[in-house]
Amino acid sequence: MKIGILSRNRRLYSTRRLMEAADKRGHEVRVIDVLKCYMNITANDPTVTYQHSEHRVEALEFDAVIPRIGASITSYGCAVLRQFEVGHVYSLNESIAITRSRDKLRAHQLLARRGIGQPVTSYAHSARATDKLIESVGGAPLILKLTQSTHGNGVLLAETKKAAEALINAFRGIGSDFLVQEFIKEAGGSDIRCFVVGDKVIAAMQRRAVKGEYRSNLHRGGTAEVIKLHPEERRLAVKAARVMGLDLAGVDLLRSAHGPLVIEVNSSPGLEGIETATGIDIAGKIIDYVVKDALAGPNKPTGK
Ligand code: ADP
Ligand code: GLU
Repeated sequence: MKIGILSRNRRLYSTRRLMEAADKRGHEVRVIDVLKCYMNITANDPTVTYQHSEHRVEALEFDAVIPRIGASITSYGCAVLRQFEVGHVYSLNESIAITRSRDKLRAHQLLARRGIGQPVTSYAHSARATDKLIESVGGAPLILKLTQSTHGNGVLLAETKKAAEALINAFRGIGSDFLVQEFIKEAGGSDIRCFVVGDKVIAAMQRRAVKGEYRSNLHRGGTAEVIKLHPEERRLAVKAARVMGLDLAGVDLLRSAHGPLVIEVNSSPGLEGIETATGIDIAGKIIDYVVKDALAGPNKPTGK
């Protein structure tokens, strides 16, 4: 099969592992930087053109593409991906599902509509609603999240009502969209990353925050270890990926006093942490899924 990995950098661990796995299975694989792609959206023949250099351009042809689109280029990356889709190229994770998952508010609404347990989450625009926002999640301590950020960068813990008010006002002042969320204290700075491929959790790890930190992101120095999931957690993770319409997802759960809660569904979950923690050949499983799913025809989980 001709497989294209849409990634800005072939040296990234996940990109490299996917290339290796595809190559090992005898596929022709290339890494494509979406920012070097352009497309004519009105043409009868919906192609994607790759600009190698000023004078060297090439029309791209793939049987399947694997998007690894960074959060900072979601919009253009998804437009390029959509162009492949228009041309009937198989995509592991379709553009619409990636767009959904990147907007935390939208993702929370979709998950809520399908009855997926999440921390109590509120969102408002009006400055007068500050008190109500704080009250609706049960008061301080509470979590504030910028809706467009990743790697735990936009996640803040407000320990007191005063701190919460100050942060809410600051976010409003700079015009940032944010969510206010119940702080799940009993998670104890740990979360669970479930790696979903198709309708299975193929690996899971528990991430633990460093001392004095409540965010367990590996990018924030958190550590990871293998964890055995409860069947309920497994089902929840698969359902969350399905609601978003993602074939491949990193579903993050918190173990709360009232059962597992979904905090995030990532459409480009990193492979390094999970392969290192579990020893599972995740890249190989992804490529096997892509080949099987691409050959099976257009039966994507469309999400809702
Ligand atoms: P990001 O997409 O930036 O990683 P997350 O929503 O996944 O943002 O949050 C980052 C980390 O913060 C999580 O891995 C978790 O450890 C912690 N966290 C997030 N939400 C809550 C919450 N409601 N209660 C307690 N801890 C949380
Ligand atoms: N690669 C990061 C992770 O899996 C985040 C990717 C994203 O935000 O889509 O934690």
